[in-house]
Amino acid sequence: MAIEDRFLDHLPAALRDRVRRGVPLRDLTTLRVGGPAALVCPADNPEQARQFHEAARTSGLPLFTLGGGSNVLADDRGFDGVILHLAGRACDVRGDRVTVSAGLGLDDLVALTLGEGLTGLEFASGIPGTVGGALAGNAGCYGHEVGEFLREAVILTPDGELRRVGPEAFGFRYRGTALRDEGAILLEAVLQLGRGDLGPAAAERAAHLADRLAKHPVTEPSAGSWFRNLEALEPGGRRRAAGELLDQVGAKAMREGDAAVYPKHANIIVNLGQAGSDDVRRLATRMQAAVRDRFGVELQPEVRGLGPGRSLT
Ligand SMILES: Cc1cc2nc3c(=O)[nH]c(=O)nc-3n(C[C@H](O)[C@H](O)[C@H](O)COP(=O)(O)OP(=O)(O)OC[C@H]3O[C@@H](n4cnc5c(N)ncnc54)[C@H](O)[C@@H]3O)c2cc1C
Repeated sequence: MAIEDRFLDHLPAALRDRVRRGVPLRDLTTLRVGGPAALVCPADNPEQARQFHEAARTSGLPLFTLGGGSNVLADDRGFDGVILHLAGRACDVRGDRVTVSAGLGLDDLVALTLGEGLTGLEFASGIPGTVGGALAGNAGCYGHEVGEFLREAVILTPDGELRRVGPEAFGFRYRGTALRDEGAILLEAVLQLGRGDLGPAAAERAAHLADRLAKHPVTEPSAGSWFRNLEALEPGGRRRAAGELLDQVGAKAMREGDAAVYPKHANIIVNLGQAGSDDVRRLATRMQAAVRDRFGVELQPEVRGLGPGRSLT
C-alpha cells in the first residue's frame, strides 16, 4: 500500500474526505512558488489537527504546518508529505482577553479587536498570514512583537499531545520561538489586550496600512523581508535593517529569471510571474554574497524553506 494510502487509512472517514492530494504549493503561498504537496489536510479545530498529526506520525510521513504561507519558499519539486493547514478562524472576546484560533488572519484579528474596543495589536496592521504563523515566528514591526500579548495557548507537542501552556513555553525571540524550533504547533491562543484610547489606535492602524501600501509589494507575490535584520551594535539598541545594506550594494537592480528584488524595498523578493524556486534561491544567494563581499556580514534568511521529503524549516 502506498504511504499516502496508509495515512488516509489512519483517519476517521469524515476527515479522510477533507484531504486534498497533489495541491500546488504555489496556490498556498504568497510568493506563488512551489510544486505539489502530496496531501493537504485542513483542520478546523485542535482535535482534527491532532488526528491528522497522529496519522502522519503513524504512517511515517513528514508534516509541515502552514498558516497563510506568507513566510515560506516552497520548492518546485513539491513536498512528499502532509501539509497541516490550520483553517479554524474562531475568535471569542471576554473583557480584555481574546481567545483565537491559529488560522484566523492576523490583520482580521487586529480589525476585529479594535472593533470590540480593544487596543494593543494596531502595530501589526497589514502583516499578512495567520495568528498561528505570527505567534510561532514572533512576527513584529514598528517596535512591537506579537509575543508580548500572549497569555496562554493550546499547542500540539511533537509527540502528538494537546497541551495548554503559558507564554514561557514559547521562548519568544526576534522573529522566532523555541516552540516552533522544537516542532510544536500552536492551535489556539489567549491574548491580553488593553482598553486604551481607540482614536489614536485607529489612526495608528490607518498610518501603518498606508505605509505598507507605499513601501511593500501589496499586489505582487512576495514572502516579505527575505533576510533578518542585523543585531543591534549596543545592548538595547535598534537592529540595523538588512535592507539598508542591500540597498547600498545595488540589490534593487538584481533579478534572476522572474524573481526580482522589489524596486521600493531592497530586502523583498517578488515573483514577476513564472519564478521558480531555483530562481528565487539564486537571487537570494547573490544578494547575500554582495553584502558579504562589501560589508563582511552574513545575512540570515527569515523566510522558511519547504522541500521534498522533509520540511526545511
Ligand atoms: C508583504 C509582506 C509583508 C510582511 N511584513 C511583515 C512584518 O512587518 N513583520 C513580520 O514579522 N513579518 C512580515 N511578513 C512575513 C509574514 O507575513 C509573517 O512572518 C507571518 O506572521 C507569517 O504567518 P503565516 O501564517 O503566513 O505563516 P506561514 O508562512 O504559513 O508559516 C511560517 C512558518 O511558521 C510555521 N507555522 C505556521 N503556523 C504555525 C502554527 N500554528 N504553529 C507552529 N508553526 C507554525 C510554518 O511551519 C513555517 O515554518 C510579511 C510578509 C509579506 C508577504
